[in-house]
Amino acid sequence: MEAAPTTAAAVDLPVQREVQEQPTSEAQQVLAAYEEALGGPALPNVRAKVLDQAAELLAVRPLWWLIDRVRELPQWGSDLRIHCEKSKVSFTKAAVLQGPENPCPSHPRLEAAGCPQCAADDEVDRRRRAFDAERGIDDASALQALASLIQQAKNPRTPNDRKRDAAARQAAEARRQSAQRAEYLAR
Ligand SMILES: [Zn+2]
Repeated sequence: MEAAPTTAAAVDLPVQREVQEQPTSEAQQVLAAYEEALGGPALPNVRAKVLDQAAELLAVRPLWWLIDRVRELPQWGSDLRIHCEKSKVSFTKAAVLQGPENPCPSHPRLEAAGCPQCAADDEVDRRRRAFDAERGIDDASALQALASLIQQAKNPRTPNDRKRDAAARQAAEARRQSAQRAEYLAR
């Protein structure tokens, strides 16, 4: 049943209209920004003036712009309307700052569809792969080489390390030769 709530709302409306004279939450946000910039509560008459002017200005200027302006206000006084009149800061940049509708997950400032940064990244990746492929480097071996370089940089090799590596190489070579012999004998 919708009749009852409608009637109730109609009855409530005149009361709410009077309450609407109270500052809107946006005007309150402007005042809060002013008092924050001021470093404390404004005098009662100043609060009333800022709220009044904020409500009036909100009809023609975006909230973010008024908040920016009101933050500058304490050094100039308490007349937000005059300060806004004198301000040369554009109040239309919001559209530019709003960003894309479907932002790229990697580059949130760009549209996902046909993201030029992703295309550039892909191209760099493609070239790197082509370069690696020409030289027979796969990702795993490239990572391994990088890891061992980092390891070496962290732990400079000592003469003992070199002896140990040489021994390991000899042992590996011996194993390889004996495996070859075993293969030869098995034929
Ligand atoms: Zn992207």
